[in-house]
Amino acid sequence: MLKHFLALVSLASLTSAAEPPKLRLGDDVRPVRYRLDLTLIPQQDTFSGAVEIDIDIRKPTDLIWLNARDLKIDDVKLVTSSATLAAKVEPGGKEFAGFAFPSVVPAGSATLRIAYRGDFNTKGTSALFKIKEGDDWYVYSQFESIDARQAFPCFDEPGFKTPWQLTLHINPQDVAVSNTAVQSETPESSGRKKVVFGETNPLPSYLVALGVGPLEFVDAGQAGRNHTPLRVVTPKGKRAQAQYAAQVVGPILDELENYFGIPYPYPKLDTLSAPLMPGAMENAGLITYGQTIVLCDPAEDSIDRQRGFASVAAHEMAHQWFGDLVTTAWWDDIWLNEAFASWMSAKVLRHWKPEWNTILSEQNTRSNVMGQDMVVSARQIRQPIETIGDIANAFDNITYSKGQTVITMFESWMGEEAFQRGVQRYLRQYSWRNATAADFLDSLGSVGSQSIARPFSTFLNQPGVPLVSVKLDCDGSSASLHLNQKRALPMGSTGSSNQTWQIPVCARYGDDSSSYRDCTLLTEASADWKLPQAKSCPTWVMANADGKGYYRTSYQPDLLNTLLANGGRRLSTVERITALGDIDALTSVGEIKSGDALALVPQFAADPERRVVGSAINITQGVYYDLVPSDLRPNYSRFVAKVFGERARQLGWAAAPGEGPETRLLRTRIVPLVAVWGNGRELAAEARQLAEKWLADRKSVDPDIVYSVLTVSAQTGDEAFFKLLLAALPGTQDRQQRDNIFRALGSFYDPHIAGASMELLLKPDFDFRESLPLLFGPASNPDLRRMPFDFTRKNYDALVAKIPPGSTFSFGEFLPFLGANLCDDKSAAEVKEFFAPKVDRYPGSQRNLAQSLEYIHLCAVVKAAQQPSVEEFLHKH
Ligand SMILES: [Zn+2]
Repeated sequence: MLKHFLALVSLASLTSAAEPPKLRLGDDVRPVRYRLDLTLIPQQDTFSGAVEIDIDIRKPTDLIWLNARDLKIDDVKLVTSSATLAAKVEPGGKEFAGFAFPSVVPAGSATLRIAYRGDFNTKGTSALFKIKEGDDWYVYSQFESIDARQAFPCFDEPGFKTPWQLTLHINPQDVAVSNTAVQSETPESSGRKKVVFGETNPLPSYLVALGVGPLEFVDAGQAGRNHTPLRVVTPKGKRAQAQYAAQVVGPILDELENYFGIPYPYPKLDTLSAPLMPGAMENAGLITYGQTIVLCDPAEDSIDRQRGFASVAAHEMAHQWFGDLVTTAWWDDIWLNEAFASWMSAKVLRHWKPEWNTILSEQNTRSNVMGQDMVVSARQIRQPIETIGDIANAFDNITYSKGQTVITMFESWMGEEAFQRGVQRYLRQYSWRNATAADFLDSLGSVGSQSIARPFSTFLNQPGVPLVSVKLDCDGSSASLHLNQKRALPMGSTGSSNQTWQIPVCARYGDDSSSYRDCTLLTEASADWKLPQAKSCPTWVMANADGKGYYRTSYQPDLLNTLLANGGRRLSTVERITALGDIDALTSVGEIKSGDALALVPQFAADPERRVVGSAINITQGVYYDLVPSDLRPNYSRFVAKVFGERARQLGWAAAPGEGPETRLLRTRIVPLVAVWGNGRELAAEARQLAEKWLADRKSVDPDIVYSVLTVSAQTGDEAFFKLLLAALPGTQDRQQRDNIFRALGSFYDPHIAGASMELLLKPDFDFRESLPLLFGPASNPDLRRMPFDFTRKNYDALVAKIPPGSTFSFGEFLPFLGANLCDDKSAAEVKEFFAPKVDRYPGSQRNLAQSLEYIHLCAVVKAAQQPSVEEFLHKH
């Protein structure tokens, strides 16, 4: 039976040509367990490895495909219970390697043994990359999404979860870390040392991680039910900078365990700082962070930096459950990892540090992503993956922030406790395995009273932002809301607004003495909703209670006016931010004039909550970029000075004794605004003095304002300041300080200096991973908006020589966005002509180019429609 079956299958497989897979490996051969042996000498540019993969062959075959990129494969053998077969390597294009055997291998267990060599990534921060920090070299890994294949041949898909056992051969003076603790270290006759790590729990390839170099450790104690040991891992000599991280990782772990009801799943947790790595990565048991996120000299640490670390850490640590313990089955469900980690991070911060009031910052996240979701080239949260480019695109703001906001909405709809039970059930059921969106929605559906799968799917599987319009109908003692929904589209959009969702709409309403809250599910294009608790006609209605809904609201005019009266006193703080965000968005839809939006700024600029002031500033600055003609800039500056000037001068640059964090954070929004755009020459001059003081002594200026005084000084600055910044770089080793200097260098408004600053990008002595702010910087000034595109067009070859292709976190895919700030159709044509032939160089570029072109076109249309109302408004100031 078996033989007969074998013969048939072998004929079939032998007749098939050695065509590599298009995208996925298929299921005929599955990995069961890996033993990975790497020789990693950070001073060298290459490494060597040997990997043994126990596999389960489900269909007899004479050819096995694995993922491998840019690896030189020296030797491949397959060991079965009856034979050892040498394999011939079949070329598999960029992403695959095929191993052809002289005879058909029967179904069953076997072991693949592969010896190979590879190159360290010396320009980027993906795969195995090397970095010099101080006088020392380090090697780190970054494998998500599909870069593990550049470090070892493997089954590089998230659905293949197996144990991994890692052995490293390193310099005797170096230290190595990986997902698990070191089991043994022994000297070798070669003069190197052998470091053997314990076998991991089942992990997909993208979560395997390591770091090698003269690393140092800070003990961060233990946390959680299993007393998990915590460490911060730093480059040599940086232990003192790990203080804040070492304090907060433990409490965050406790918060997460309490919510999930499952102990932290791995035997240890290291928090590793990797210089120049952008962002952070949730590798199981070894979370890696960009150095400026995790390390800072306590004497130079700022509120923003500390809160930023806590937020990123909570996100990455939430992944240890959501992503690592339960892993997305395929990249189309990466939102299950990312949206959840973002949502969980926000939840942890709200509970752990209520005084930070992060729920208000969540509104900015929501508002920003709604802006991106209005274009027709936006992705869906759950987008089918057809190419490698789709994998790269999947890590966008739609996945993270729209996903987070939609989860928040449905959590509120279900009730927090029911939702938590659903999450816990899901994690328990799929622990150590993979799961899909359907699995997750089933788990939620099994605990709640509301059916959630249908409504949730309408947000998951279609792009766009709903626009809910609201009219109030009163009849005697009853009141109804007439609700309509359509897709919110900016003026000039080519999309169709004829689209519906199943939207949980929650409203607060009342009169001067009472307030009620009710929710309904809007499932049709329009509906009349009788307000259950209304005993008379409400005088006001807030149709997005607590700002939890993922939709924009358009009110009939008198409802909007009552809502906003007296600085929105009927609204909660979060609702004031929601309402201002809606108004800002409706200017691009064309339902509200930008001049009318500007007219609302003064009353909200005086709000006691800094993030409401921030919303007023967003409207003010948003108008400036595209809608203020140069002859009216003096009027604009007078308006800014009139509205924000007094507050800015009261605050000044210097913190008053005993001043709290809220005032400190407000300062960095208002004072720079007035210094640069609000006739605040004296504030700009003081900023320059402070910036020069900081350049001379890095501990002499309040850390909370360092970034602001440096950028204000550059925005208003001259060649002398440019030279001062440049001269400070060679003597500055600290990554935080260097980051501040680079960001300042990229902030000059003087076109001549901004040009000189961009030229620095091409200098061989500047590491592109660090000097990147110089490329984007000028786009923040409308007068310089063309510079990034023009510079890229002129120097494309030199630039791409510095940007290696990577699968997900290569900066290259974002290059088309360098034209996105342009605002006329002629420029759109130039951007298209230049980038269209180049989209294949970096996966993901195609969609980014489409978005960039759409932004340019929409900007031109909105400008034509809205500029007259802004001109009219400014003429009066
Ligand atoms: Zn994440």
